[in-house]
Amino acid sequence: MPAPEPPFAPPATWTNRTLPALRRALLAWFDAHRRPMPWRNSRDAYRIWVSEVMLQQTTVAAVIPFFERFLVAFPTVRHLADADEQQVLHLWQGLGYYRRARHLHAAAKRLVADHGDALPDDPAVWAELPGVGRYILGAVMSQAFERKLPIVEANSLRVLARWFASPLDPRAGAGQKWVWAAAAAVLPDARIGDFNQALMELGATVCTPVAPRCDECPVAKWCEARRLGLQATIPPRPKAKIITNVAEVGVVLHDERAVCLFQRRPDAKRWAGMWEVPHGEVAPGETLESAATRVVRELTGFTVALGEEVATVRHGVTRYAITLTGFTARRRSGSFAAGHYTQCREVPAGELADYPMSTSQRQLLAEWRRPGRARRLF
Ligand code: SF4
Repeated sequence: MPAPEPPFAPPATWTNRTLPALRRALLAWFDAHRRPMPWRNSRDAYRIWVSEVMLQQTTVAAVIPFFERFLVAFPTVRHLADADEQQVLHLWQGLGYYRRARHLHAAAKRLVADHGDALPDDPAVWAELPGVGRYILGAVMSQAFERKLPIVEANSLRVLARWFASPLDPRAGAGQKWVWAAAAAVLPDARIGDFNQALMELGATVCTPVAPRCDECPVAKWCEARRLGLQATIPPRPKAKIITNVAEVGVVLHDERAVCLFQRRPDAKRWAGMWEVPHGEVAPGETLESAATRVVRELTGFTVALGEEVATVRHGVTRYAITLTGFTARRRSGSFAAGHYTQCREVPAGELADYPMSTSQRQLLAEWRRPGRARRLF
């Protein structure tokens, strides 16, 4: 369990009546303005948990179709626990940050093994699960079980920093400690889950990063940043991410019947358990072609005869802008050496869609399969 926060002091302008009034106003606004979402209107801990995991790093609009498909495939925690990891990754395909799915699956297995079908109303149990950090813990516990636990994410930290005109950066260090203390201090004794959601909803729709709509804000009269005219500078803007360009090559290794797909090691940091064609970075001074043959040899043990360039796929991963150039190739010699990959499987082209893959890999293979292109190979 997280350590207790330092005492939190409200602004000097607030009286004993301010916080209760602010809570009532925010909840009334939430009742009237909340956006419909398929996981709202439910206290089902499983649905809330799945939605909150999907919503990390991903927008509501992007999550909704994935959430609906996931819940059809795995309507209960037991269905998820009993599923094969490949099935889970396949349904996560396109959402990115696949470690979330692997953690969710592992946590479901542990919960069902220890607690059966009923998810426990016990923060200590949840806090020990893989992938459950302080935010997920507060979100699930407050929304499903009315536990008095705070949440802090990108929207609520902005709202809290503005309500109290905090000079600290709430994303790090002392500012982060402060914002968790503030999030705990403002919680009501009832409707805790709704209050947490209202805080996030206000940040997402009214108290936006740029040009907050203070004239429409239900708590404007108690907001310190507004009173001081500091909405534009609180919280301080996050430092711009420095984007690094990376050139990669990927190789579609195939014969007339099948494509070689490889599976990433389970302990790999990224795309663990997913399938892919071998790909890797181009070294300084290296041509794309020599990088392609080297990457295949180093990652798989195969020596290949390179065919033609298939496509260029651009995608971003965290702070990297990756340009992936795809080539076709045929195997010439060597045998599969497990290491970087755990498995090599020859997959008929018509069955590629059955394998969980990252978006860039699917794009590369789709381009390879584009009618007309295959005839030009070799
Ligand atoms: S008054 Fe403005 S700055 Fe303050 S919480 Fe509302 S929208 Fe945000």
